[in-house]
Amino acid sequence: MTQSGSPTPPSPSAGRSPLLEMQDIQISFGGVPALRNANLSVAAGEVHALIGQNGAGKSTMIKILTGAYRRAGGSVRFEGREIDFRTPKEAREAGISTIYQEINLVPFRSVAENIFLGREPRRYGLIDWRAVQRRAAALLESFGLQIDVKKPVRSYSTAIQQMVALARAVSSDAKMVIMDESTSSLDEREVELLFSVVRKLRDDGRAVIFVSHRLDELYALCDRVTVMRDGQTVAQSSMAEMDKLQLVTTMLGRTLAAVVQDDSTAREANLARRGAQVMAAHNLSAHPKVSDVSLEVHAGEAVGLAGLLGSGRTETMRLMFGADPLEHGTLAVGGETVTLKSPQDAIARGFAYLTEDRKGDGIVPELSVRDNLTLVCLRTLAKHGVVDVKKQQAIVERFIASLGIKLRSPDQPIRELSGGNQQKVLLARWLAAEPSLLLLDEPTRGIDVGAKADVAKIVRELRDAGLAVLLSASELEELTAVADRAVVIRDGRTVAELNGAQMSESSIMDAIAYGSDGPSQLVEAAHTAHIEDALEGDRHGA
Ligand code: ADP
Ligand code: MG
Repeated sequence: MTQSGSPTPPSPSAGRSPLLEMQDIQISFGGVPALRNANLSVAAGEVHALIGQNGAGKSTMIKILTGAYRRAGGSVRFEGREIDFRTPKEAREAGISTIYQEINLVPFRSVAENIFLGREPRRYGLIDWRAVQRRAAALLESFGLQIDVKKPVRSYSTAIQQMVALARAVSSDAKMVIMDESTSSLDEREVELLFSVVRKLRDDGRAVIFVSHRLDELYALCDRVTVMRDGQTVAQSSMAEMDKLQLVTTMLGRTLAAVVQDDSTAREANLARRGAQVMAAHNLSAHPKVSDVSLEVHAGEAVGLAGLLGSGRTETMRLMFGADPLEHGTLAVGGETVTLKSPQDAIARGFAYLTEDRKGDGIVPELSVRDNLTLVCLRTLAKHGVVDVKKQQAIVERFIASLGIKLRSPDQPIRELSGGNQQKVLLARWLAAEPSLLLLDEPTRGIDVGAKADVAKIVRELRDAGLAVLLSASELEELTAVADRAVVIRDGRTVAELNGAQMSESSIMDAIAYGSDGPSQLVEAAHTAHIEDALEGDRHGA
């Protein structure tokens, strides 16, 4: 099987006594065992992959190590000594640093301050800010990163923030750094940059525990691997001795064929349950971006609109929403041909459209969350021009709760919310209008990975509740997480429709590349895609 990236050298410290030894770890939550005899052994100077499906117990294992949870049984030895940290602070002081995907930095403080927070160099008892900045800059430079360390941390990308967190760990002499799914929101270039830093840490003799679902990443970075399943350790090995297929089947405790089968079965079952046609587009065109798009969406199904950037996905949605005039082709709603002269027409027909441009045509930054959320349904809330405040409040409360919107108060200006929470408010805005068709253009762009998963889950629930959903996402992984079939467009034309079992990241990719009569040759890639889908666990709400 293929391995990407540089070949992994054998663990430099094989044979030596490990830095960390966790044995027979046990813990239960509400009487349900989450870990049963789990083991993890990590040496200094290695990057150790900790893998397993969602819910396997990886994070729990780490939380026990770092004192966030207390174990019910088993032993933890660090540097040869029996330890039992009671708080993450104790673990940090002993040299164990954790980098989460939502980083625990102080966003409005400078990069330099964050690296040395609480440990600032002092002169005459006073913090020596010049030294703080000088040392921070030097440290980041040793990572190959030249940035202004005086700027607040929040002005930098997630990748850079993670490197700041790593720099903090290094400057505090961490002996072990734990990265729990911290790369899931990074793009390829950022991941590479981060990996170069992780390799430096390893070469300095530090240990790194690396949790990720991306198999290629694991092979590119890790020396050894521990596989967990159902709260137990099921394998420990060097990465080189386990190929992808072994890794995956160990993780799942099933054969590959069964995994692929399951995935397709879930999609087929969803499609079999779908309801009546809600919207049908025939041969839509509008110069120059859309030349011939046909597709239909039924109640209770989520259709993915796939294509490259510039293929006409957004323009297609705009036509369907009456935002741009149609030159040729027809749109039918509930079987009846309609002409949409404006978005108002579309809204009146039960359409909702979450645009890709959250900042531009989405949020009204100065208005409160409450006002932003009820912007579309306002007309139905008003009687003789006066808003029914009670009803408005009820709607606002209902959606804040059901979509899990995190905020201080509904009266807070929406601009103060995180991107993910802003996106949920916009989604709520449309849901409050009780639509029958939801057009979602890149709903997960630019929001953190936790919020992405939330949005995916919400969309699946809306589908199950009978809504018709058409959604675009550049990340095929995000598309297949939600959609049960995909319509592929290229240069403004529909080139393929992939239903249920036919749809996978690789079959979509094939269609994007070759059109409808393209070869389907990427068998291994298809398997990897299915596998990585499967690892994400409850994607189909199963
Ligand atoms: P992973 O990180 O491998 O996805 P976790 O360690 O987060 O898995 O979860 C392992 C199991 O423990 C899951 O079944 C999860 O629901 C359960 N669990 C973890 N933390 C808690 C908690 N605080 N309360 C209840 N159950 C929990
Ligand atoms: Mg986890």
